[in-house]
Amino acid sequence: MDQDLGLERCLTCGAPLLFVANHRWLDGGVTVQSLDLDHRMVLVETENLDLLFRKIEELLAIPIERIVIETKRRATRDYVLRITPPEVREGVRRLEIPVEPLIQANNAISVAMGYGKPKLESYKFQYQEDDHLTQVVNNPYSVPLWCGDMTGAVEAVTSRDNDVEYQVVGDDLVRIRVFPSEHPPQFQERLKTRRYPYQPVGYNLEPCPSCGGPQELAWFSWDPDEGIIVDRLSGRRLCMIGPAYLEAIFAEMERELGEEIPQTIVEAQRLFVKSGRLYSPDDIGTLEEFRRLLAVRGLGYLEEFRVGPEGLFLRMVNPALHLLLVGLLQGYYEVVSGVTSSTPHWSLKGPVLEVNVERD
Ligand SMILES: [Zn+2]
Repeated sequence: MDQDLGLERCLTCGAPLLFVANHRWLDGGVTVQSLDLDHRMVLVETENLDLLFRKIEELLAIPIERIVIETKRRATRDYVLRITPPEVREGVRRLEIPVEPLIQANNAISVAMGYGKPKLESYKFQYQEDDHLTQVVNNPYSVPLWCGDMTGAVEAVTSRDNDVEYQVVGDDLVRIRVFPSEHPPQFQERLKTRRYPYQPVGYNLEPCPSCGGPQELAWFSWDPDEGIIVDRLSGRRLCMIGPAYLEAIFAEMERELGEEIPQTIVEAQRLFVKSGRLYSPDDIGTLEEFRRLLAVRGLGYLEEFRVGPEGLFLRMVNPALHLLLVGLLQGYYEVVSGVTSSTPHWSLKGPVLEVNVERD
């Protein structure tokens, strides 16, 4: 069983060639998948994910893990359906195409994306009752998102409904098992995901002369043995995810749990910044450095950014995950200005986001 997920890297910037080949960095701080140019991708702090979900649970006093898993399952299923040729799915269904190379290819991508290090433990796809896929994942970027990813991918390839269970087996080590099971009706329909309006602004990152990805990829380091990406400057762990899927999870929470969800997300993010766990004022150097950092991470183009004693203003074109950004800015303002309370206002019109944080 070939479990070697070692990744060939660019000798100049150090990014895995698979990671560079899978993405395109467009004008205006937008990154998309090369196979699906409408599919935006962003590099976010992994700690931002499960901790954010936990913080939301705390603030709402309601478990949300199932919503996260189910939404991610549907999103991944739709995505894998789009990128897998029908003849492959048909071949799997007729038991003519072996699935193990598909699993290993998927695992190699997971490593390059910073999702952790999966190890195939056992599988059976014979369209029988005891069909399953079991993997042990070291350093999962998020446990519920991994569960949703694996389930959605199995469903897409086998054309069969599945469920998932997991077991924490060690520090940052989780065993995930996916098995056939019918879905409750509320989780059967297709997921609607957000489409981001796009506006070119004439801002492109310089390409690395060797691999063609942006030179700024050298700011990150990949560890293929651990399946992690680290921001060299801040030391924090990052992963590459589709922001539309995370926003779909937020939208599902809002639909099921109420309209205070956007404010809860902003608040959870503000609390992280205040607790010093995620960001610090040192993260924002010069305006141009901040702009490049946001752009290489696919978070949009920073047009204007001002901060003073009375407040903070930001205008961004092509933003993604704007609720997280609003909370981040509010927390950032409170940390740098020393005020204990502030009010964020934001407006998102087409591809333009404006955020005002005012001292109370
Ligand atoms: Zn390179």
